[in-house]
Amino acid sequence: MSYSYEAPVSQALFDRASRVTPGGVNSPVRAFQAVGGTPRFMVSGTGPYLTDADGREYVDLVCSWGPMILGHAHPEVVAAVQDAVARGTSFGTPGEGEVALAEEITARVAPVEQVRLVSSGTEATMSAIRLARGYTGRAKVVKFAGCYHGHVDALLAAAGSGVATFGLPDTPGVTGAQAGDTIVLPYNDLDAVRAAFAAHPGEIACVITEASPGNMGVVPPGEGFNAGLKEICATGGALYISDEVMTGFRTSKAGWYGVDGVRPDLMTFGKVMGGGFPAAAFGGRADVMAQLAPAGPVYQAGTLSGNPVATAAGLAQLRLLDDAAYARVDAVSAEVRTLVGEALTKEGVAHTVSAASNMFSVFFTDRPVRDYEDARKQEAFRYTAFFHSMLEQGVYLPPSAFESWFVSTAHDAQAVERIAAALPAAARAASEATA
Ligand SMILES: *Cc1c(COP(=O)(O)O)cnc(C)c1O
Repeated sequence: MSYSYEAPVSQALFDRASRVTPGGVNSPVRAFQAVGGTPRFMVSGTGPYLTDADGREYVDLVCSWGPMILGHAHPEVVAAVQDAVARGTSFGTPGEGEVALAEEITARVAPVEQVRLVSSGTEATMSAIRLARGYTGRAKVVKFAGCYHGHVDALLAAAGSGVATFGLPDTPGVTGAQAGDTIVLPYNDLDAVRAAFAAHPGEIACVITEASPGNMGVVPPGEGFNAGLKEICATGGALYISDEVMTGFRTSKAGWYGVDGVRPDLMTFGKVMGGGFPAAAFGGRADVMAQLAPAGPVYQAGTLSGNPVATAAGLAQLRLLDDAAYARVDAVSAEVRTLVGEALTKEGVAHTVSAASNMFSVFFTDRPVRDYEDARKQEAFRYTAFFHSMLEQGVYLPPSAFESWFVSTAHDAQAVERIAAALPAAARAASEATA
């Protein structure tokens, strides 16, 4: 496919990048492979806007995949970072910022009695799984097809067929041994989970699930699904790990836990809690966390864990995220969802706008989407046309039909107006698209 608009400076940067970096990017989804065209190299962001290297401005509906919930370069977050940087950027010793951030997290999320700070969501889920295995003395891990938990070896198995199946690695470099203890099940299917526990009595260390999945597009848990997982785990002697790297401090003050109130044994966080810096965490029951080094025998460590600049950014951001802020994000999300739905309906495009609190995505199908198989049945080629029309008109959407869209407190009436103005042509492009 070719596009009528150009981005010569981004193209030149991408050419340079591709010579020194595989695929020209440092994280695959940024490369636009799912939608085609030239990835935009961004040079700055303010509030709801991003500016690319060609000088074009976009309303940003990615928000760095969630973290920028206050918009870009929020003055109070920037000030906190500047203040921290001026006092030194890393000490390799404990510091007060880490304590304050841990206190903020434990105060917001009741099931988190103790927390350990790390530097990425991947590290958080990897460590939580190790801890669950260490605590239970069991090897097997249950995960769900379409749920992403970072690029942890054992969790890069996502068989994606509709039946319960043993994990086969879905990337070269992950061995059968690394993925062989992973059981991949269809999402929203408690019977499959019960069957797995029945087939492997005393062997399952934990079930890990996205609290409300956003990495196959937004596919919320069905009524009672998380509560059912919790119960099956409790009965089967396994730990229930809720991955809130995306939903944490995004879907409410207490993340998805604040929405459904199902109490996990362990939880993982990232994205919003870092304020745009590499900061993440895992935490939960004090008796489980007590197994972690140096309190207990399960080893885990990090040179830059609890970094003073990252913790200052995260803390500043969390402190600004009060009830009013969430009400604002929820309202903007509802407004944009309505506008998108109306535009697509007007052009007769089959679609489902799927939301979990203020996270949402658009599936190009009118059939219900309850799991990864359903999500994959959408007409993704329509998203490609829709995406490029929006991009051309100055709205930056996720460059994949299988990702959540994100808004922030900074998305004001003017930003929403720009989105509204771009939608009719994008909906028309989606309706005219061919596979
Ligand atoms: C983003 C994400 C991760 C991985 O976090 P990174 O910081 O990219 O390593 C893990 N789990 C979920 C649910 C995520 O959305």
